[in-house]
Amino acid sequence: MNILFFGPNGSGKGTQGTILKDKYNIAHIESGGIFRENIKGGTELGKKAKEFIDKGDLVPDEITIPMVLDRLQQDDCKNGWLLDGFPRNKVQAEKLHASLEEAGMKLSYVIELILDRQIAKNRIMGRRLCENNNNHPNNIFIDAIKPNGDKCRVCDGALSARDDDQDETAIDKRHSIYYDTDTGTLASAYYFRDLAEKDASVKYFTLAGEKDLKSVTEELISNL
Ligand code: AMP
Repeated sequence: MNILFFGPNGSGKGTQGTILKDKYNIAHIESGGIFRENIKGGTELGKKAKEFIDKGDLVPDEITIPMVLDRLQQDDCKNGWLLDGFPRNKVQAEKLHASLEEAGMKLSYVIELILDRQIAKNRIMGRRLCENNNNHPNNIFIDAIKPNGDKCRVCDGALSARDDDQDETAIDKRHSIYYDTDTGTLASAYYFRDLAEKDASVKYFTLAGEKDLKSVTEELISNL
């Protein structure tokens, strides 16, 4: 099962992605997560990416596209994968489509998690990262995933906030890229929606992201 998962930053897409990864034993590939690991590890890639990420800008396509396409070739993707955070613009969508065709990989689902921009912004500012595992969801504004005091609700690890999650200018920039239906992330989602309309083996569906976490998961799984 190969999935593209679209949703604005703050829509809970990462949390739902982790649930699908565990349920279907597929690789959960978060482009932002790969950058953050590189920043943590002090790699050259991390250093280059950080200056863009901190401002809320996209990391240039010449860095991001090969990084994600290479990731899809790794062994853990053989059983399927879920892409979260990529593609983020029309160029990435076109390159991904061409690369999947070339590799003979088929998309199974394209999911669009819909959420109002202001709600997404509030949720981003409440998000906390666990020091032990990027996939442990914690958000001080969402009851279902509220941290355990100031510790991770899953493993009691120390929590921190991402710099780019506390900077309103950076959040606004990220959302302007997401909600841009001409060349931005929604444009890339619609690019795949158009392809799905012509290809019965690919299913495109939307989910209402303002519902609680469990309801979104139920609706999501019932569509797969
Ligand atoms: P995310 O964790 O998805 O919010 O990503 C954090 C940051 O990483 C974004 O604001 C971008 O700066 C960068 N990033 C993640 N995915 C991409 C992508 N597909 N293209 C360009 N930059 C990206």
